[in-house]
Amino acid sequence: MPTKEVKVRFAPSPTGDLHLGTARIAVLNWLYARHYEGQFLLRFEDTDAKRSEVKYVESILADLDWMGIVPDEPPVFQSQRVEIHAGYLETLLKDGSAYPCFCTDDELRAEREKATAKGRPPRYSGKCRNLSAAETEQKAGESDPSYRINVPKGGTSFRDILRGEMQFPESAFDDFVIMRSNGVASYNFAVVVDDHEMGITHVLRGEDHLSNTARQQVVADALNISAPEYLHVGLVVGADGSKLSKRDGARTLGEFRDEGYSAEAVLNYVALLGWSSATQAEVFKPKDLCDAFEWKRLSTSPGRWDPAKLKWIAGEHFRQMSSAVLTKDARNQALELGIIVERSDDWWQQLINVFQGELYDVGELVEQARLYSGSLRYSDDVAARFSDPLTRNVLSDFLDSIQESVELSETGAQELIDATKRRFKDQGVGPGKVMLPIRFALTAKKSGPELRYCLLILGRDGAMERLSGALDAAPERIGNG
Ligand code: GLU
Repeated sequence: MPTKEVKVRFAPSPTGDLHLGTARIAVLNWLYARHYEGQFLLRFEDTDAKRSEVKYVESILADLDWMGIVPDEPPVFQSQRVEIHAGYLETLLKDGSAYPCFCTDDELRAEREKATAKGRPPRYSGKCRNLSAAETEQKAGESDPSYRINVPKGGTSFRDILRGEMQFPESAFDDFVIMRSNGVASYNFAVVVDDHEMGITHVLRGEDHLSNTARQQVVADALNISAPEYLHVGLVVGADGSKLSKRDGARTLGEFRDEGYSAEAVLNYVALLGWSSATQAEVFKPKDLCDAFEWKRLSTSPGRWDPAKLKWIAGEHFRQMSSAVLTKDARNQALELGIIVERSDDWWQQLINVFQGELYDVGELVEQARLYSGSLRYSDDVAARFSDPLTRNVLSDFLDSIQESVELSETGAQELIDATKRRFKDQGVGPGKVMLPIRFALTAKKSGPELRYCLLILGRDGAMERLSGALDAAPERIGNG
């Protein structure tokens, strides 16, 4: 499986940016194509002229590109295929599989309301199905019709690769519209024609499309063409099992990117929302994901949004990144955020050495770069600490000893700290009372990496600047500091 050459497509409507759910469908199709050495195509379903926008075409392309998903052919635009759709409609009209419908919106609404009032499903009555040629001609002179498919008796069925035979009784549909009166094909018609014309062999999408698939099967049967094979995966749900909300992962890919997640981590995480590996491995480079991806492990159960897992995966990818790539990405991100961190490769390397083990994305690294660059602003609470006489003593003492030192090396920094601790120990002051004020002065935080690393990243001048900055920041001076 699959026995034939694979050609899949991702078919977004360019009415918004890619979000987690749609990106997942793109990723799963792409993995399917790559694993089975097939082709991955892209089709913009942009027939809704009011809601489709070029900026979304661009952002979807850019987001896919960011994840390393590049279609094997230039994208297809459904709106440019109006004539092709019209040709297929012609075929259906000729053999009576479709018919023009002249009912106005008001008439249809009234019909639906009547059916609902009687407790029946609001379905089209089939009123125009049997108009005579003369009636049709007369009505056509008065208004442009829409076109409906003549749904055959007995309903329809299709085979879903993951779910088996899916049956839909006749009562599941009415004669649905396949082309609107403005000449634009409806989704369920255009999809069948385009999938067929593009040679699509497999359609992998969310289970919210199951009833569309039934309609598409009706259209394919009417056109006498073989429909692609279908795989409907479970939907993505929020952390609590309910519909995905903005608070959960219903964010755009751009938002994940801005939060600092790497493309590899997002790709990896998103793939696991509908698929799992046979070995239970969860961290994959894109290439390994393509190799490991097997359709049998696609899931019909819901994929539950799990922010902790995304972070964990991001951390695993982060730890595997080379210093060169990390430095490049962090510099770019710092630039985008308008944080000027003009630092040498050695400085970044130092930062990476200290933080790569404990952070999970480039965004966090940039945050650390910002924290260790330029001057610090202390909150009032922190600044208040610097008024304490002992604290001022410690800071001045430490400042003096750095001033007297030459360049700071890892051992040199540790020796400076140890010497300061010893001096104060001799005066009966414990190490905590020495280290904590220094840490606050250097980083404005209570915790962080070992002090010697803070010193190394800040460098001699940076550390001195912060120590005197802390002494100056004290709201009022008490004692001899
Ligand atoms: N444009 C449809 C959507 O975004 C495509 C569905 C499909 O046929 O795969 O849901």
